[in-house]
Amino acid sequence: MIEASCHCGAVRLELPRAPRRLLDCNCSICRRNGGLWAYYTAHSVRFRYRKRDVETYAWGDRMLRYIRCRHCGCLLHWEPTRRTSASRVGVNMRNVDPALIAKVRVRRFDGAKTWKFLD
Ligand SMILES: [Zn+2]
Repeated sequence: MIEASCHCGAVRLELPRAPRRLLDCNCSICRRNGGLWAYYTAHSVRFRYRKRDVETYAWGDRMLRYIRCRHCGCLLHWEPTRRTSASRVGVNMRNVDPALIAKVRVRRFDGAKTWKFLD
């Protein structure tokens, strides 16, 4: 198990394993947030936070929402607005111990235009 936590510790995620790949996306929200994403099925992640400790953001077709700590502002993950145990969630791996992902390959993804990898 590896843990992702915000800076103040109010929001924590327990992840089953380190990812095999990380994704650096240039879409309109990812480039602003500076996220470094790994994907997990929702049922494999333990979401350890109180609802009142997070803020969510959704836009456009509102299929996804981004979840950040209400206190320290760190962006932890995104999830489908109707999350089920089979849903895929994106976890911002900037919130884990950097040593745990130091050797994981980062792929650059063109989420802004082509939806293809740039590398
Ligand atoms: Zn926090």
